[in-house]
Amino acid sequence: MTPSCPQQTCSDFHCKTFVVRDGRFYRQSEARFIQRFRCQSCGKRFSHATGTLDLHQKKRRVNPRLRELLCSGVSMRRCARLLKIHRTTVERKLVYLARKAELSQQAFLASLKGQVRELQFDDLITSEHSKLKPLTVSLAVDADRRWILGVEVESLAAFGTRAELSRKKYGRRPTRHLEGLRRLFTNIMPTIAAGALVESDEHKNYPPIVAQFLPGRTHQSYPGGRGAIVGQGELKKLRYDPLFTLNHTCAMLRANINRLIRRTWCTTKKAEMLQRHLMIYVDFHNQVYLK
Ligand SMILES: [Zn+2]
Repeated sequence: MTPSCPQQTCSDFHCKTFVVRDGRFYRQSEARFIQRFRCQSCGKRFSHATGTLDLHQKKRRVNPRLRELLCSGVSMRRCARLLKIHRTTVERKLVYLARKAELSQQAFLASLKGQVRELQFDDLITSEHSKLKPLTVSLAVDADRRWILGVEVESLAAFGTRAELSRKKYGRRPTRHLEGLRRLFTNIMPTIAAGALVESDEHKNYPPIVAQFLPGRTHQSYPGGRGAIVGQGELKKLRYDPLFTLNHTCAMLRANINRLIRRTWCTTKKAEMLQRHLMIYVDFHNQVYLK
């Protein structure tokens, strides 16, 4: 298939009227020849990779496998070992895969406009680098179809017995939970049906957010049950768990994203990398696992 002209200043921009095939070049990383094209209107020469996220990438062949491994509980370093690539390459590819996943998820949410009839949301607690620096992951799911609608990572001040030590060692840490919830709800708002049921536990931050972003919807909150050992705390020891879909999804995140496993020695070093890793998982969950 002939690509269209990528040159923004060209009169033929985004059209292929004047695009012709123009020889080929050798791509060493794939050990094969790639077709090159030329626009006869502006003279720009380009390939299928021009303007895409994988332009200039070496080792494109590992991308699909890396995506699967990162969504299957494999650590970044073990991914590097298995795929025979450097760990810095894994880190860079995580950024690339996350960007791709984000675009895919945006398109998915746009296709769900007004279709979510039962929304469940909650927060999952993890940490960056040390337990003294907790993070919260706000998560929203479609309870009927188990789709993950969104995830947002934000920092929390240390709580409980670790609070004082955390302040002494790392200074005051802001609690930005509400900011994360606002971002989450801004993104998913258009997908929620007019008469939808919204469910969560009894966290004090939830009712004002639901009132602000989803006016007129019924908000049902449930007391949190005691965690079971399976699912690392998210699957409850209740006979009937009203938030089952949500808690099951949390348990899947914990099982499949290596750094979210409790008591793991793989920890998140940067909150934004956790956000990216989660994004890759969300897209994988919706597009591969549930299909
Ligand atoms: Zn052109």
